[in-house]
Formats: sequence, C-alpha cells, structure tokens
Amino acid sequence: MKKTIRKSMIYLILAFLVLTIGISIDGYVSISMMKIIDSALEGNMTLFKSEAVKIFILIGLSLPFSILISYTRGLYIYKSLVKTKITYMERLFAKNINEFQAENNGVYLSSMTNDMNNIEKKYLEGIYEVGNSFIGFLISFIVIASVSPWALFIGIGISVASVVLSMIVGKPLQKHEKHRAELFEGYTSYIKEVLGAFQIIKANNLNEKVKDDFYNKSKDIQYKGYTIDKIHTYTLSIQQFIVYASTFSILLISAFMAIKGSITTGAVILIINNMGRVIFPLMNLGEWFPKIFSVKSLFTKLDHSLENHEDYEETTELNNFKNTIEFQNVFFSYDNKEILNDISLNITKGEKYLVIGPSGGGKSTLLKLLRKYFNPTKGKILVDGNDLKDLKKESYFKNISNVEQQVFLFEDTLRNNIALYKDYNDDEINLAIDKAGLKDFLKALPNGLDTMIYDNGKNISGGERSRIAIARGLLNKSDIIFLDEAFASLDSNVAREIENTLLDLEGVTIVNVSHVIFEETKNRYNKVFTVKNKAVI
Ligand code: ADP
Repeated sequence: MKKTIRKSMIYLILAFLVLTIGISIDGYVSISMMKIIDSALEGNMTLFKSEAVKIFILIGLSLPFSILISYTRGLYIYKSLVKTKITYMERLFAKNINEFQAENNGVYLSSMTNDMNNIEKKYLEGIYEVGNSFIGFLISFIVIASVSPWALFIGIGISVASVVLSMIVGKPLQKHEKHRAELFEGYTSYIKEVLGAFQIIKANNLNEKVKDDFYNKSKDIQYKGYTIDKIHTYTLSIQQFIVYASTFSILLISAFMAIKGSITTGAVILIINNMGRVIFPLMNLGEWFPKIFSVKSLFTKLDHSLENHEDYEETTELNNFKNTIEFQNVFFSYDNKEILNDISLNITKGEKYLVIGPSGGGKSTLLKLLRKYFNPTKGKILVDGNDLKDLKKESYFKNISNVEQQVFLFEDTLRNNIALYKDYNDDEINLAIDKAGLKDFLKALPNGLDTMIYDNGKNISGGERSRIAIARGLLNKSDIIFLDEAFASLDSNVAREIENTLLDLEGVTIVNVSHVIFEETKNRYNKVFTVKNKAVI
C-alpha cells in the first residue's frame, strides 16, 4: 500500500515547491523588516525607501501563495487517498473467494474506515507537516544564520536533540497503534453482528448482554486511545522543555552580541521574530514523526490482510463449457479434516443433477469445488479436459451462475439487478424474465424494468429473488447454474415451481444442492448424487 502512495509523489513535490516559495517570501519579509528597523535607527532614508517598496511587493505576493499552499496540500491528500482506497479495493477483489471468506468481514470494513482515516490523518498529513516543518525550519535557520552563525550552532543542537528524543519517546506508539487497530477490527465486526441480529436481540431480551459487551469493547478502545494520547503528551512536554531552554539561550546570545556590537538591533529583532519559525517546526516534527511511524504497522497489517496465500498461476482460458466436468479421484480437506475421499463422477452438459445428503456431509463443499472456490487437496477436476485448477477464474466464472438461499440485490433498477450492469437490450432481458418465470411479477410493477429496488429488495419475496438470480444466469447465457439450498426458505409450492422452471431449461446444466426434495421433481433429474461419509454415491 505504501508503494501506491509513492505514486502520488508528484503532488507532494508540487506542494513542497509552492511551500518553499511561500516560506521564502516570509523569510525575505523578515530580512526587509530588519533593514527597515536599522534604517530608522541610522536615519538612512534611501535604504528605508528601497526596503519599503520591497516589503509591499513581498506582502502582495504572499496572499496568492497562501492560497496556492492550501490548494496544493489539499490536492496531494485527495489524490493520494483516493489512489490508496482504489488500490485497496482492487487488491481486495483480487483475493481468492475462499481466502476472503476465511477472514471476518469486519477486518475489511475496519481497514476501509478506521485504517484509511489513520492513513489520512497520521501518514499523509504527517508527511506534509514534516516537510512543511523542515522547509520552515531551514528557511528561518538560513535567515538567522545570515546575521549570526552562533545561532546556527544552537539551532543544530535543538533540531538533533528534538527529533532524536521524539523518536525514542514515540517508539512504543507503534505497538499501541497496532493494538488499537486490532481492537477497532473486533469492534467493527461486533457492531456489524449486533445490527444484523437486531430482531433476535430484541425478541430474546438480550439488550442487557449487548449493552455489557458494547461497554467492554468501547472501553478497551477508549482506554487505548487514552494511553496513546498520554505518550503524545509526554513527547510534547519534553519537546517544549528543550525548545524553551534553547530559545532563551539564543535570545541571551543575540542580546549579548548586540551589546558587543557584532550585530545590529534590527538583527536582534529578526532573530526574535524568526525564533518562533525555528521552534514551532521543531515541535511539529516531534509531534508528527511518532504519528508517521505508528502507521507503519498499519501498512503491514493491510498488506497482510490483502495477500493471497495460495498463489497458483492460472494459465488456461475457457470460452464455453461444451462437454463434461469430470472428478478424477478427488480428495478434499479443510486443514486436517477430510471431507471428501476419492470422489469420481461426471457431469454432462445440459443435464440436471440433484445433490442430497445429511447435513454436514459435504454437499456445499462439493459445490465449492465445482465453483472453483477451493482446489482439491488431491486428484483433479477436469472441465472439457482442462484442469479446473489451471482455468483462469474470470473465464470460468463467465460460464457459471450461482443461485443462493440469500440472493443479493443492489439498490438500483430491476433492469440493472438482472443485467448486472452489462449491456443487454430489453428483448434479451424480457426473454430471460419469461424463462425464469418472472413475467407476472414484472407486469405488476408500475415502472416495469425501471422499478427501483431499495434496501436489498425488502419487499421482494424469496421466490422472486431466486427467479431474479435465475434470470441473471439465463441472460448471461451461463452454461451451468449451481444452486446452493436455493429453495430452503421458500414455500414448497413456489420451490417446486421454480425447480420445474429450471428443469425445463434446455442445454443448461443444473447442479442443485438441496435438502428440500420433491418426489415428483426428483425423477426429472438425470442423476441424484448422495454425499455421505466422505463419498458420493
Ligand atoms: P453440507 O453442505 O452437506 O451441510 P458442508 O460441505 O457445508 O456440508 O460441510 C462439511 C463439513 O465441513 C462440516 O463438518 C463443516 O463443519 C465443515 N466445514 C465447512 N466449511 C468449512 C470451513 N470453511 N472450514 C472448516 N470446516 C468447514
């Protein structure tokens, strides 16, 4: 993820360039001020006039530069953050389905919200602030050094002590920030779960338990925030002490030098004026360095959660499924738990298969292998003679459709929900709707295909949802439709009707994993597989 941010470096360089010009103008203003004061004390009218003109020009320039400074700063943050978020999404959707599912969704949710916020507020703003402080320090440093090299030595002392100290004091922050990010992950998953279970919690009077759990989780996060703030305060207090001590030393030295006659009164005022511009950037460095370092562990965590551990290179394209899917002595285990043992079976194009068996027997696992969510532990699955393991996911997924118990609907029109944002004309969509048995449903909608579906289709029945999923598959001209307990929550008449619709589809291969079995439709399948005791009969 860090590499992505580096790609927006050009905006950072632009921001720093503008910043350098803006701060240099301020530096020139203070040198002109010194000359005006000295000209007043010496009664030198020529110097006074030329410096007064300069100062007006410089002040006039400083306004557009202040505007440019905030503009380029905003541009840098905006470009870097958008790029980071887009890269995160791209990498997230490059994850293998099984590896994505193995992780709690709360982790991704937390990364997209809390971690991105930390990247913006601590890393991106931090880098800009460090640059800003460094440039500000350097320019004021040159300005002071131009009148007193002694101040230069003291300045070096302050900067080295300050930065080293803030790094030492801020070191434990990394560990605490990492822990806080983990707590946020747990917290986000928990909130997601609680909101999802709202009805169950209310109906079972679990409000008190939820309240206690919520209290404990938020207390831990707040306490961690308190610990982090405490460390920040220590860092700042030590910084302040060093900076104040050094300020007075510089002040005493410059006053002493003025008494000795080695610098002018104007130079003393210049040193005092610029002291703040040396001190505050240093304090800023002390504040921002630990924040930037604390985000380092976040990048490692983000990269880790986006990694695909199984990194097998897929080489083959599948344009169309033509003949058979063949299981050749397939074994499958989750970790060390064997689910399928030496399975050999054939699925022929256009035929219909019912997969039944006891709960926990391995039906869904068999389907996951067919859907290429997992690869077999041993043995091969051949699709038209190609090893499924070698088939490129996108090219295989183009040929298959899935109908689940929970059909997800986007907050969009019925047309987009069926076409899934692909370019089909109304005739094609209507044909798929007819075949999927949605004709009457569509007729009853006042806005037809342009009817909006809100809130994951709250008002659309389970049967209609399944039919929408079937229509998606038909429109997509999928050669294979996999159903995973798609009828489990449907009324038996509706389930039977949809099953008949599917069994009537010519040329489409159907693999239906179901524990809902109707005797009259069961006979219409070409084969019934029973998954039991690690075997398929
Ligand atoms: P069925 O669909 O027949 O009910 P599954 O294929 O879902 O059965 O599960 C078969 C077995 O595999 C069950 O014992 C289940 O607990 C286990 N199992 C399923 N998914 C996973 C997983 N991701 N990790 C570990 N074990 C799993």
